Amino acid sequence: MAWDFSTDPEFQEKLDWVDQFCREEVEPLDYVFPYAVRSKDPKIRALVKGLQDQVKEQGLWAIFLDKDLGGPGYGQLKLGLLNEILGRYSAAPQIFGAAAPDTGNMEMLAAYGTDEQKKRWLEPLINQEIFSAYSMTEPQGGSDPNLFRTHAMRDGDEWVINGEKWFTSAGRVADILFVMCTNGMFVVPRETPGVEIQPEPRNHNHIIYRDVRVPLDHLLGPENGAKVLAQRRLGGGRIHHAMRTIAQCKLAFDMMCERALSRESHGKIIGEHQMVQERIADSYAAIRMLRLFVLETAWKIDNSSTQETRTDIAAVKFTMAKVLRDVSYNALHILGSLGTTDLTPLQAIYAAAPTMGIADGVDEVHKATVARNVLKDYEPHDGYWPTEYIPAKREAAWQKFQPKFEADPDLRELAEGYKKYFANRR
Ligand SMILES: Cc1cc2nc3c(=O)[nH]c(=O)nc-3n(C[C@H](O)[C@H](O)[C@H](O)COP(=O)(O)OP(=O)(O)OC[C@H]3O[C@@H](n4cnc5c(N)ncnc54)[C@H](O)[C@@H]3O)c2cc1C
Repeated sequence: MAWDFSTDPEFQEKLDWVDQFCREEVEPLDYVFPYAVRSKDPKIRALVKGLQDQVKEQGLWAIFLDKDLGGPGYGQLKLGLLNEILGRYSAAPQIFGAAAPDTGNMEMLAAYGTDEQKKRWLEPLINQEIFSAYSMTEPQGGSDPNLFRTHAMRDGDEWVINGEKWFTSAGRVADILFVMCTNGMFVVPRETPGVEIQPEPRNHNHIIYRDVRVPLDHLLGPENGAKVLAQRRLGGGRIHHAMRTIAQCKLAFDMMCERALSRESHGKIIGEHQMVQERIADSYAAIRMLRLFVLETAWKIDNSSTQETRTDIAAVKFTMAKVLRDVSYNALHILGSLGTTDLTPLQAIYAAAPTMGIADGVDEVHKATVARNVLKDYEPHDGYWPTEYIPAKREAAWQKFQPKFEADPDLRELAEGYKKYFANRR
């Protein structure tokens, strides 16, 4: 019977290394030089490179890529466990060459790019010589591809792209943009004439693509294949996000527990007040349930496919947002006034929780997906009553026993006695 929640010792050593490395090297760098990975300063770059070289020596660079796509091929379960550590440190994904939105874009390139496209874009992306962004959402259509309007027209040796995209994260600082058009996924260098980045919002950009011309070989994957590429991008990514969210929940939880033991009020430490205990217990159980759910989903992906696991991936997506909301609220509350300031990570974690329910598709869409898929395995009942209607089931059971009763009248009498007894009890 294969049912095992343990991590093999060899991989546990890797996890322990990552944990120590993030705590002792990545976090301090981030406090002194925030966003160091994006810095152009040679001294800061040297610091980043020093850390990234250590990651590469451990074989942990670009961990999200499968072996056939040029990565270590850990699969989703091991990746999940790694992300559970990386997610606690905001700079860690970049130090490990595994930060969104580059990861998803690299996955698309690795899976659908021609050799030439991989050489031109995938290699420099993996080496962080360039950075990318993903332009999918449209101002009038959110993330419903059926409402998208951005389109590429073929004109001789070029594609001409026209449209408008909303909330392209880090578009302003990207070297290349992956633009989802109604007729395919295109790679557009940001400096191409006609790429007009609007002044607001600052970090998640509103971009107008006006007569943007790119060569024919900037189409990624097949013509009209954008939806398939987009699915490829998001499936595994959601599980990585989920494990990083668990890391954020765990961070909030650790802070809540430490505080519960440190603060005294009305004659006892607050961890001895029952209402504080309730928050701790509820948060603990919520995190454990989410973690198991995410790891089981990752395991399912490894043992089947993203497509076959889509119901659970969608369920994980909205559940993680809810758990983050609940746990970070509990933690913030237990920290009292300090929790409301920006002197601990809690306020930022709590503020990020609603965002989690919107990015990568709003909760409602994922819930609808789950309900639709789940209902496919059910059928309506015949007649007025549900299958579990007790009088009907009892009647069917009596019918089933008739031959036995005919052969043994004492048994019938016994059954009648039971019937009377339970009828009188009601
Ligand atoms: C932090 C962050 C980063 C992002 N990064 C990127 C990026 O890099 N590239 C990119 O292309 N996009 C990105 N997005 C955009 C993201 O994909 C969209 O925000 C998301 O898909 C929802 O679209 P919208 O914001 O237009 O909301 P809307 O679609 O307008 O939805 C607003 C509300 O309407 C309701 N609603 C919408 N649709 C339904 C439905 N089908 N059923 C029931 N209720 C519904 C829900 O209450 C929902 O919250 C990012 C978003 C965030 C928050």
